[in-house]
Amino acid sequence: MSDAGAGAKSGKPNPYSVAKAQFEKAATLSGLADEIRLILSQPKNELIVNFPVRMDDGSYQLFKGYRVQHNNAIGPYKGGIRYHHDVSLDEIKALASWMTYKCALHEIPFGGAKGGIKFDPSTHSQSELERITRRFTFELGNNIGPEHDIPAPDVGTNAQTMAWMMDTYVSFTAAGSRQANHGVVTGKPLTCGGSQGRSAATGQGVVHCIAEWARDKRFDLNGGTYIVQGFGNVGSNTAKILARTGASMIAVGDWKGYIFNSEGINPFKLSEYVVKNGTVAGYPGSQTITRDEFFAVQTDILVPAALELEIGEKEARAVKCKMIVEAANGPTDNDADAILAERGIDVIPDILANSGGVAVSYYEWLQNKRSEFWDLEDVEDRLAKRMRRTYAAVMEYAARKKCDWRTAAFCIALDRVSKTYIDRGIFP
Ligand code: NAD
Repeated sequence: MSDAGAGAKSGKPNPYSVAKAQFEKAATLSGLADEIRLILSQPKNELIVNFPVRMDDGSYQLFKGYRVQHNNAIGPYKGGIRYHHDVSLDEIKALASWMTYKCALHEIPFGGAKGGIKFDPSTHSQSELERITRRFTFELGNNIGPEHDIPAPDVGTNAQTMAWMMDTYVSFTAAGSRQANHGVVTGKPLTCGGSQGRSAATGQGVVHCIAEWARDKRFDLNGGTYIVQGFGNVGSNTAKILARTGASMIAVGDWKGYIFNSEGINPFKLSEYVVKNGTVAGYPGSQTITRDEFFAVQTDILVPAALELEIGEKEARAVKCKMIVEAANGPTDNDADAILAERGIDVIPDILANSGGVAVSYYEWLQNKRSEFWDLEDVEDRLAKRMRRTYAAVMEYAARKKCDWRTAAFCIALDRVSKTYIDRGIFP
């Protein structure tokens, strides 16, 4: 097995160039003022830390960690922490900028950030992961904080990672303010101040978008089919929630391989298999297919829920679906976007489609601030209303300006960031 895994795509474009091109297109259409364009063209802060961690065998390894804070005009920086061997500064910069626009699009009072460590978490024990996470949090120091910059889970991290980050952060704060600092991260376990509904929130938001699309297009999800790339937090939750509509998952893949079954693959049973085996590959009763065959499966909905830039020109020409819902951040490159538009395939853009996660992170942060604990129904109702309202706003803007949905979502976000700068002014 290569370092990148059996399902990996090679020769991806630079993610920050892709993000910048999306931004430039929207900035031009929305008539963004030159000075705001200048400010948003680069992140405000880029932090890189190299830190040593003792391994279980007594040896030491040096790790490279990143935190990029793109913009905080609207509120504190907010964005996930990624553990992956391909993490790079430009990837984190792209992801941080998408967070700025995602929060602004949803009228969530947060800015955009992202962080990560360049390593493969699957090759480390739990105790090594804990020491890596705690040391990284210590290195970040006052660069994070509940009113300044609030990390959350992303690829390769989870609620446990957030519990370690929170515990480390509060250990270095004064005894009297420890409780108030629990909101330094979101996506925590319920026992540590997490919110009901957070772990499934991104997948739930993806399914709200699919349901809105199906209603607009008069497409009956019951009896429809979908395929999912990436079966981690977002992919598996999307698959399970979408299954409730009566649609059936006929292909799925992850870093180790892809599987197919025209009769449908049960996402609940597959999740149990992945917990035991760490991959979807080899799932009993399914046929092994290649990555190319996966993208060519005839289906109604394609859910990319793995890494960015997995859909390039080749994949855009190969896909046989009606719609792509971008559960992952930045899964489609700009050439692919143009091809999909030409082919009449709808694309629900990432900053809309996967925004359920940050919406419920915001609810978690509010609950921490107010020392409240909302029930699941309350969280789900708020999320449903927010997703439907934002989805409708994007469709309305796209129809009015005759532009694609990604550009519409970016334009709405840019208008909001821009209005904030106009009202506040630029110091001095
Ligand atoms: P995860 O680590 O839980 O799962 C990632 C999945 O992608 C795994 O199944 C992994 O095997 C697969 N994968 C990794 N490399 C791959 C490759 N080269 N080819 C095919 N599959 C590959 O991560 P996640 O939290 O589910 O995040 C997935 C995507 O969703 C990312 O783009 C992330 O930024 C985005 N996202 C996550 C959240 C969240 O709340 N976790 C919120 C918004 C967006």
